This record gives sequence, structure tokens and C-alpha cells, in this order.
Amino acid sequence: MLPPADKKIIGQPHRLSSNALLPLATECPVTKARACDLTLPHCTVNTPVFMPVGTQGTMKGITVDQLDELGCQICLGNTYHLGMRPGPELIEKANGLHGFMNWKRNLLTDSGGFQMVSLVELSEVTEEGVKFKSPYDGKEILLSPEQSIAIQNSLGSDIMMQLDDVVSSTVSGPRVEEAMWRSIRWLDRCIGANKNPDRQNLFAIIQGGLSAELRKTCLDEMTKRDVPGFAIGGLSGGEEKDDFWRMVTLSTDHLPRQKPRYLMGVGYAVDLVVCVALGCDMFDCVFPTRTARFGSALVPWGSLTITKKQFAKDPQPIDPDCQCPTCLRHSRAYLHALFKSDTAAMHHITIHNISYQLTLMRSVRQSIIDGCFPDFVRTFMKRMFPSPEQYPSWAVDALATVSITLE
Ligand SMILES: [Zn+2]
Repeated sequence: MLPPADKKIIGQPHRLSSNALLPLATECPVTKARACDLTLPHCTVNTPVFMPVGTQGTMKGITVDQLDELGCQICLGNTYHLGMRPGPELIEKANGLHGFMNWKRNLLTDSGGFQMVSLVELSEVTEEGVKFKSPYDGKEILLSPEQSIAIQNSLGSDIMMQLDDVVSSTVSGPRVEEAMWRSIRWLDRCIGANKNPDRQNLFAIIQGGLSAELRKTCLDEMTKRDVPGFAIGGLSGGEEKDDFWRMVTLSTDHLPRQKPRYLMGVGYAVDLVVCVALGCDMFDCVFPTRTARFGSALVPWGSLTITKKQFAKDPQPIDPDCQCPTCLRHSRAYLHALFKSDTAAMHHITIHNISYQLTLMRSVRQSIIDGCFPDFVRTFMKRMFPSPEQYPSWAVDALATVSITLE
């Protein structure tokens, strides 16, 4: 598909000295799953990986030391909040976000755009950038691709995300195509604005809504740019699961094998396992930390709501097989009682939930390396659902396309 005359790409694709090299440790011979070692400035990241989300430089309900102890190799910093308060200058003075947070592993920062479109009601997208009113002082602010990269350069993150034109996945029509072409043009502006291409890896974000044609066009254009990695964006926003997985697998079919693939906003255990099978390497989601604040603990058989009466006298830990600090020290009964009187219960459950996600991904990775990933998926599904009749049909269909049949 040719770009419409008024939507031509500005400038030529840029070449970057990409240092987010991706030695493929192992590829599953059956599915599209891969286990890779992603070389980033602060440490190697073993993929598939789940990246916990932080806000304002602190993880809600967990400290950076605790995150480190859980073996987290990369987490997310939030550009929108950090760019507003305390502001990029202050963070730059503190030796970037790593110094400000005192976090020694890798950081990924978002562009700030998504937060604006989703959090700030009065935002307007123009070719220049995203215009919005500051929720702090009401001033009009323009977040341009250049501005987003300048903030992320000040934060010093190991992976930066391009500013993209975000459209809800439930929107269809010409707006989706417009946003796709604009995201490509903004990618070029972001590449041009990056002051530290040697140590800050800029990822492109594939858009195109739920249209296979638009997604393919976006993939064709963006993969012409030699960026260090690619994110699959614009999904996980309330679309049908059938549309979701088809867009994911179409994207991984067209992304270069040697580059990391980041599926944005995905964090349910079943979604993680299925999307690894479809070829994704990196994931993030606020779900495990958010759900912890409501007393919901993630377990291999689903979730357990600690506030329920049935746990008031239960001496077991959340998950008897879990080795996290919460499960090693505390019973369900204790957490149940604590939840009523103290926010500490949320911290304990947050630690468990992050540990659950990280441990799940380490097991997924090990099974890929051991050559038994399809069996891992079958066992995982059996444990997660009481009976095969309860397997979500989208997951069964998606896995069937990569030769995993669930009985
Ligand atoms: Zn635990």
C-alpha cells in the first residue's frame, strides 16, 4: 500500500548503531517461542521477560531493593509523571532515573503519550505532537516526538519508546490509518532526536489497529528503520481476544528475528504464555500490582482473594510452592487479618504477585531452553483451569496455529 500523497514519510530511514543486540539463546522447534539474552547497559535481560511497572520512580507497594531481590532485570519508569514532577532537570542532576530511584538494573521508559491520551481528558493530537493541559497547573503543554525523546534522554533509560499516535483498539475507520502513518513519521523524528543512540535504545511501536492490512503496512515501513527493537502497540485495550491474538501473530511473523519484540500492556498469565508461543519476548502490565491492592494474589490455579472469609483461619501461605518472601513468612490468615487494618498487606501481596510473574517467565524460558515448551503450556493450562471445557477458545485457537493442541 502506498502512503496517501499528504501522508508521505518525512526524510529517509535512519541507521542506528543499535546496541540492544539479541543473541537468540534457543528457539522452540515447534512454536514461535524464543529464549534470548538481551544485552542492555545495566545487565543482560533473559527473555521472555515480564517488566513490572513503576510510577513516579517508585514501584507501588514494593521497594527497589525488594525488586532486585526478586531477580527483576528490567522495570518500567513512567515518563508522563516524571516529566511533570519532579521534572527532567532534577532527575538528570540525580544521574538520571537510575540514580533518582537508586535502581541498578535496566529501565524502560514510555513516551508519555499514552498516559496523556488515557489520563488527560483535554488532549489533542496534531502533526506537531500531543497538546494537553497540565493536571498540575492547567498550563497548555505540547509533547512532541522531540520533547518526548529529550525527556527520556534526561531520564537515561536503557530502552526508550517512540511517541506514537495512540488510538483505542476499539476505534475503526480513517482515524486508525491516520494514526498509523503519523506514528511512522513520529518514529523518524524520534530517531533524529535521540542524543544517546549508543546507550539508549529506541523502540518503534507498531500500530494499525485491528486491520491486518494497516498492521502489515506499518510493519513494512517501521522495519525499514534499523531501530534496536519493536513494540506491538495499540492492543490489549478492550478488543476481542480473537482480534488481539491474530494481530500479535501477524506482527511477529513480520518482525525481524534478531530484534526484541515487546507486547505492550499484557500481563494476565494465560495471555503471557500464549503470546510467548506466538513469538513475543517482553511484556508489561500494571495488572499484578493493581490487583494486589484489592487483595488478589496470583496463583498457578488463577487467583486467590485474601479478603474472603474462607482464609480467616487458613495457616497456609498464599501458594505453598512459592518461594517469595511473603509466602516464606506469612499465612493467608495473617494477610487476611492485616488487610483490614494496614496497607502492609498490599505490599506483601504485591511482592508475591511480582514474584509470581517473574517466576512464571523464568519457567517459560527454562522450558524453551530444555526443548519442552509445548508440554509446559499443556501443564500450565491444566493447572490454570479446572477442566479443558473452561479453556478460553481464543487461547486454544491461537495455540493450535503454532502446533500446540490442548486436549
Ligand atoms: Zn509467594
